[in-house]
Amino acid sequence: MAFSERFLDELISKNDITEVVGSYVRLTKRSGSNLFGLCPFHSEKTPSFSVSPEKQIYHCFGCGKGGGVINFIMEIENLSFPDAVHFLARRVNLEVPDSDEDKIMRSRRERLIKLNREAAMFFHENLLRPQGRVVREYMEGRGITPVSAKSFGLGAAIDSWSALCDEMQRRGFTKDELLDAGLAAKSSKTGNVYDFFRNRFIFPLIDVRGTVVGFSGRRITDNENERKFVHSKETLLFNKSKFLFGLNLAKKTKLGRIILVEGNVDVITLRQAGFDNAVASLGTSLTEDQARLLSNYTKEVVIAYDSDGAGMAAAQRAIDHLEKLGVSIKVLHVPGNKDPDEFIRKNGAGAFAALLNGTGNHIEYRLSVIQGKYDLTQDEGRVAYLKEAAEMLAALQSRVEREVYGNRVAELLKISPEGMQVEIKRAAAKRSKELKRQQEQISRPVNTFQPKERSIRYEDPKSAAAEEGIIRLLLADPSIIRKASDFGPQDFTSEFLARVYAYITERYAENRPISIAAMSAEFSSDEISHITLMMQKPAPLANAETAMEDYIGVIKTQKLAKSEDLLEISRKLRERKGMEDKDG
Ligand SMILES: [Zn+2]
Repeated sequence: MAFSERFLDELISKNDITEVVGSYVRLTKRSGSNLFGLCPFHSEKTPSFSVSPEKQIYHCFGCGKGGGVINFIMEIENLSFPDAVHFLARRVNLEVPDSDEDKIMRSRRERLIKLNREAAMFFHENLLRPQGRVVREYMEGRGITPVSAKSFGLGAAIDSWSALCDEMQRRGFTKDELLDAGLAAKSSKTGNVYDFFRNRFIFPLIDVRGTVVGFSGRRITDNENERKFVHSKETLLFNKSKFLFGLNLAKKTKLGRIILVEGNVDVITLRQAGFDNAVASLGTSLTEDQARLLSNYTKEVVIAYDSDGAGMAAAQRAIDHLEKLGVSIKVLHVPGNKDPDEFIRKNGAGAFAALLNGTGNHIEYRLSVIQGKYDLTQDEGRVAYLKEAAEMLAALQSRVEREVYGNRVAELLKISPEGMQVEIKRAAAKRSKELKRQQEQISRPVNTFQPKERSIRYEDPKSAAAEEGIIRLLLADPSIIRKASDFGPQDFTSEFLARVYAYITERYAENRPISIAAMSAEFSSDEISHITLMMQKPAPLANAETAMEDYIGVIKTQKLAKSEDLLEISRKLRERKGMEDKDG
């Protein structure tokens, strides 16, 4: 989806970065012309997130994220490039010019939305039809009330190969649209199109805006040959890794936190029991995107996964993702390896509420996970547990927490609290030494001159350092571009830096502004973060011409050295070949 460059330039000039960022981050003026605040992308206590009104960029000295106004919105609102452009256009009441392609995509989306809505209604009405009796009985068996069926829009896919396809085609939808929506599948043998969901209990997947974006179907029999759950494939509307079941309702909760469960049915039964704040991640463990989505709606998450091995591993991954976003996390242990649904049916809502209020935080949970790995009746196990627990506690920011949880470990191992604190201090010292070593490696010049973003690698770091120098100069003052024809993108060793160079020179030649924000259309967010980082070092503008000459000199010398190496290698190869010929 391409936007005209003129439109993008106008959009960027109207969306001042300080205003846009300022509505998410409290910015205060500090040194020089830059503003500082707490980074919204990683958790921190002292501000290392900077905004330059002059350069119209942001950069975090902590996590390395950076860029212009468009990729800020992409990152923070979790939007694609086109969606971020629309978001910023709405912000300043700017109309987005439609390309023909846009119009086609938009009408396809609109048709899909309509089809999904009608299909959801059809499934829902099936629950009351005679053919839907089996599914209705299954639903009742799971203790799901008619009120829930209505508020979640639950439905029945009846035991038929074509009930939905027939009905939707009768209403004017095409086979292609049914395939596009993932509601139909095509037989690879006969080419026939048939219903994707058959003889299943249907959960429409409704996003936070209230649009039906897809469906989940649960098996209603005990037949192990059938998959327990099937979900819509990825479509124009639906991306499983960015979707949370129930968030459309849970986002309105007044309970102040969100409960993360494994199954859709858990979400529904929790709601029936008065907990209107549960969401499920469609069977998979929580993804980074889902964690970010969640963090937009709450600052506290209670993880209530199954307590089996798979559930614990999934909980650990969820903790890792959520922690990075500064969400406070509690982990709920449902006794007797039950899921919340089973627990509530057996013990009632009151017991579940008590469980919720007694939940330990994630530090306790992590300690219990570590404890589970070792046999504490053996000395070896006790020592290993002590070491690993001390390492985990050493990473905690708060001294009080280190002490409180350290004492708890000491108590369990029947050692003195002082002994435990010594162990934690030792682990902390080891940790900070390791961190320092990593830091030094990053800042060591030339031979380890590699971007922090792992997707960018420099093959020739020495040349790349000079190439970066050129780009830094050009970004500060593009008029420095050498008119000489003997230097260009082809001389760069880094494909990425060559693209940046070409981008700047082309725009300069067309007399158009060079903005980091507009780069979001052509560069990945890692690449933009790195460009922004490059701009943090001052460019030697005072003697720009000489600096430019020097940089070009380094690049050419490196190139020459390499070609001499090649000559040498080919000479040696020839020599050896000659020797072999003689031998042969
Ligand atoms: Zn950061």
